[in-house]
Amino acid sequence: MEDIITLLPDHVANQIAAGEVIQRPASIVKELLENAVDAKASRIQLIIKDSGKTLVQVVDNGFGMSSTDIRLAFERHATSKIKTANDLFSLHSKGFRGEALASIAAIALVEIHSRRATDDVANFLRIEGSKVLSQEISAAPQGTSIAVKNLFYNIPARRNFLKSNTVELRHVIDEFHRVVMAHPDIHFSFLQNGAELFDLSATNFRKRIVGIFGGKTDEKLVPVTEKTSLALIEGFVFKPEYAKRTRGQQFFFVNQRFIKSHFLNHAVLAAFEGLIPKGVHPGYIIYLQLDPKTIDINIHPTKTEVKFEDEQSLYAIIRSAIKHSLGIFQVSPTLDFNRDPTMDVPYDFKDKSPAVPPIAVDSNFNPFKETTTTNKKETKEWESIYSALNVNTVDFMAPAQVATLDLNVPTAPRVFQLFLKYIVCALKSRLLVVDQGRAHQRVLYERFLTSVTTKKVASQQLLFPITFAINPVQKNIYTESQDILDAMGFQIALKEEELQISGAPESFAHEGIEKLIETVLSEARFAHGEEAFSQADFIAKAMAKSMAIKPGKSLEVSEQQALLDDLFGCKETLVSPFNRQIFITLEKEDLEKRMN
Ligand code: ADP
Ligand code: MG
Repeated sequence: MEDIITLLPDHVANQIAAGEVIQRPASIVKELLENAVDAKASRIQLIIKDSGKTLVQVVDNGFGMSSTDIRLAFERHATSKIKTANDLFSLHSKGFRGEALASIAAIALVEIHSRRATDDVANFLRIEGSKVLSQEISAAPQGTSIAVKNLFYNIPARRNFLKSNTVELRHVIDEFHRVVMAHPDIHFSFLQNGAELFDLSATNFRKRIVGIFGGKTDEKLVPVTEKTSLALIEGFVFKPEYAKRTRGQQFFFVNQRFIKSHFLNHAVLAAFEGLIPKGVHPGYIIYLQLDPKTIDINIHPTKTEVKFEDEQSLYAIIRSAIKHSLGIFQVSPTLDFNRDPTMDVPYDFKDKSPAVPPIAVDSNFNPFKETTTTNKKETKEWESIYSALNVNTVDFMAPAQVATLDLNVPTAPRVFQLFLKYIVCALKSRLLVVDQGRAHQRVLYERFLTSVTTKKVASQQLLFPITFAINPVQKNIYTESQDILDAMGFQIALKEEELQISGAPESFAHEGIEKLIETVLSEARFAHGEEAFSQADFIAKAMAKSMAIKPGKSLEVSEQQALLDDLFGCKETLVSPFNRQIFITLEKEDLEKRMN
């Protein structure tokens, strides 16, 4: 038999290797920004089109490349950053694998200008699918400008695999955040389709973080610092009350490189123990400086995973440093005027259910009395059971009438509130226990979703309009969501960097408005991603959550009744918009079984 093994041609090998480094436009953004940082630039511009699918360009004023280097830069394993394997243990650069540019050139069209400070002219190179199409002398300022066009033009399968522009932009912004947060001393700007998303002047860590997350961030941060022989720890945690349901604001940097680490994340969580409820995630931006000898960042092609020599000690140091900072913040309220006084109540106390309220029990009440005569083949569908019952329950619930009620009426249901949390309703042969908050969320959610199409929602003018600053990303999201917010009854005006809210849906509590709009404009929803998760749906959910009655709220009987009516008038009655069970039923047999 013939020999069958051949060596892959370089451009094919490069395409395959590229898959490891370049998954989407954001990967290119990361590699190019890191190269610009490694080139000691003090100013870096990121320019993208169509979320990077058409163009990713990075312009820096760094040290540039010679005419030979510009050519070599696109060879695989070509790097100026390490010479021997030993250099890996004293690494101070972002790159070192020498494969980013080779990978990018294999799957896109690349045009690059670069000039060193000592050269009179710049060099220009155009490469497509790993082939150099032209190399010329050009006029360009000191530094490097590299444009990557038509990503995956030669691999349609990968191109089709890219997500919507909104999702890809989210990934690009994430990568941008990670680099700019690590390098506040560099001036970064970011243009998407000609619109400026960020312009971040050189500054310190704290101001850079505020520049990214927006105006109010400053008052949410608690500084963390700790210096030990093993590591220098600096950074910030968000105050416990700003912990979120999503993990959006969690950042670790090791020697100015963004990394992911479950282990270190756990150390932070441990520090927050007892301060935040289960299921929410504290926000943090922690910068670690360690001797490069004690870490190994060589274990993942995108270099976001790091192995630490002494993980256990690092864990302990981080945990105690954060605990310490949170402790200072807790016991010295005078140091922090923006403190939320509710923080004085430990969470585990606040989370306890409200005390059981006394319930007036009617000793004659026996909702099951007549069940012997009831048809056993009752339908299981609550909708029909409930609406059928509804016919003879008009005004039935008014408290004054309870005394005169004829309990022998076969279909008489009764309603009362239990633990200020549940509405209990006795039906013919079973007991319905409804979670009032979840039921109300369901009702509001469906109402708001309908209002988007019918645009028939009552809006109410605010006595005191609310104004707050938004950042460019939020501004972007706002413009996309404007119509929906209008339809749902908000009156909002956008003024440069500010939103002014002058009207809100009727019965929407004033205090909830700003928080709601913040949630709507939060980047978190991009994390859940895809289009199916539509804007209107997201907003309706957020509004339902914010407006729904909470446990602890006492309801008039007529309100309880109305809520049940509304619930069973909904399209979906079993689960809340957040997929939580709305009610349970207790069958007569269930009770009888327990009576043994
Ligand atoms: P790595 O960053 O791992 O060395 P890359 O493929 O990203 O590999 O880059 C290859 C080389 O090209 C770098 O080592 C550097 O010498 C040079 N280079 C890339 N981008 C720039 C830039 N913006 N300015 C100066 N030199 C650059
Ligand atoms: Mg690189």
